[in-house]
Amino acid sequence: MLCKNCGTQAPERANYCWKCGKPMRPDVKEEQRWETLEIVFQPGSTPGSSCFAAKAIGLFGVYISGESSTFDCADRPDQLNKDHIVKLDNLLNRLIEAGWEINPERGPEWWNHRFRRKMVEKNGRR
Ligand SMILES: [Zn+2]
Repeated sequence: MLCKNCGTQAPERANYCWKCGKPMRPDVKEEQRWETLEIVFQPGSTPGSSCFAAKAIGLFGVYISGESSTFDCADRPDQLNKDHIVKLDNLLNRLIEAGWEINPERGPEWWNHRFRRKMVEKNGRR
């Protein structure tokens, strides 16, 4: 059976397409479920080992979806420090490439960008 949305071949009894997450049959309703993500600062234990981490909440709880390369930061990331900005930007770009959409609403700190991504259900698994 072929997915009408993306053309992927799926098992005959699949409820949802494993690739795009769309329902495979008219009697299966589409669920709009999102996983969310916020950028957090991870202070390192040694100089030069701090990083930004993409802390996501998905179907199975909290997980780290990606980390920036490490930088030197003793206290808190500095919005005027070019190194800190570049490390954050690289992580943001990688998340966008991985299908995350940026959410205009942000957390309290300048690096607390938020994202969301549509969950893909595999073969109707709950
Ligand atoms: Zn599909």
